Amino acid sequence: MKPKVVVTFRFGEDVFESLNDIAQVRFCSSSNREEFLKEIADAEALVIAVEKIDEEFLKHTPKLKIVARCGVGYDSVNVADCTKRKIYVTYTPGILSNAVAELTMGLMLSLSRKVLEADRYTRTEWTKDAPFPFSIDLEGKTLGIIGLGRIGQAVARRAKAFDMKIVYHDAIRQKDAEDALGASFMELDDLLRTSDFISIHTPLTSSTRGFIGARELRLMKKNAYLINTSRGPVVDEVALCRALEEGWIAGAGLDVFAKEPLPLDSPLTKLRNVVLTPHIGTATLETRRKMVQMDVENIRKVLLGELPLNLVPEQKGKVFVKP
Ligand code: NAD
Repeated sequence: MKPKVVVTFRFGEDVFESLNDIAQVRFCSSSNREEFLKEIADAEALVIAVEKIDEEFLKHTPKLKIVARCGVGYDSVNVADCTKRKIYVTYTPGILSNAVAELTMGLMLSLSRKVLEADRYTRTEWTKDAPFPFSIDLEGKTLGIIGLGRIGQAVARRAKAFDMKIVYHDAIRQKDAEDALGASFMELDDLLRTSDFISIHTPLTSSTRGFIGARELRLMKKNAYLINTSRGPVVDEVALCRALEEGWIAGAGLDVFAKEPLPLDSPLTKLRNVVLTPHIGTATLETRRKMVQMDVENIRKVLLGELPLNLVPEQKGKVFVKP
């Protein structure tokens, strides 16, 4: 019997088929838990989108050798629990940065040029006599990037082409990026006070949960915009709603939320000064295909007894041998 690979989403089936010479691939949604647990009981590789992977889950997967996260944020995976059970955790860094950066620029432009309101106006108001309000340029504005890693830098490159001034805050000083992008490091509070647009690109960890709360939002300029394409819980969503309702800041562009899918009765859905997208940072055909290809390469390596190429940093240098 060939080892079993379980994939929790339906995309890139033909790419996964390339594993057929060494494995049997099954597609099974995790929403039907009973069926899913049955399917993964003898799986050696699991490809996940957003599923939570922890000790409770791993009890059901005695043969598992690799959890391949189709994405770069792996906050839903308890890496320590996987390591204890000698299970590799891989992710798909780098290849998706441009897609997320493009969406970030899209959110920024939607806010600066009031694209959603302009669309509504064109459909319903234009023939009446009220003029459409002026918007603002990105050119000459200061973009504050929180987390100048792979995606943050891809955003900075694009913002530079728009003639924006770039400042950043990061837990680690990014000297190379400072030189290449002309980005200046700032302490967080200074960045919040200075920036016209703030874009968040940190991972969700214990140190970034609630990173932007009421205090930080109050430090921002009243005419500044916040963009979050990282993870919802990095921002205190209750405080953000207050900030948007009470005009502490001008608006927000959000791809990620405290709870996903965003509940229809969330106060965010009632606000006119926000642009909302349904966690689609990497959701382009080309990028998703590259991500699936990377997962497949990592799985092939592990099933052939080799080291995967894209281990999460916590597992760098680890070698697991499982019968
Ligand atoms: P990365 O590791 O290359 O960059 C993250 C940066 O954040 C690093 O420079 C790191 O030093 C910095 N950082 C970490 N903790 C910090 C802290 N406490 N304070 C300040 N800086 C801190 O990661 P990446 O590839 O750029 O991805 C960033 C995140 O974007 C992912 O973890 C994921 O959550 C999110 N993401 C979202 C989507 C989407 O669909 N919206 C898609 C891909 C990634």
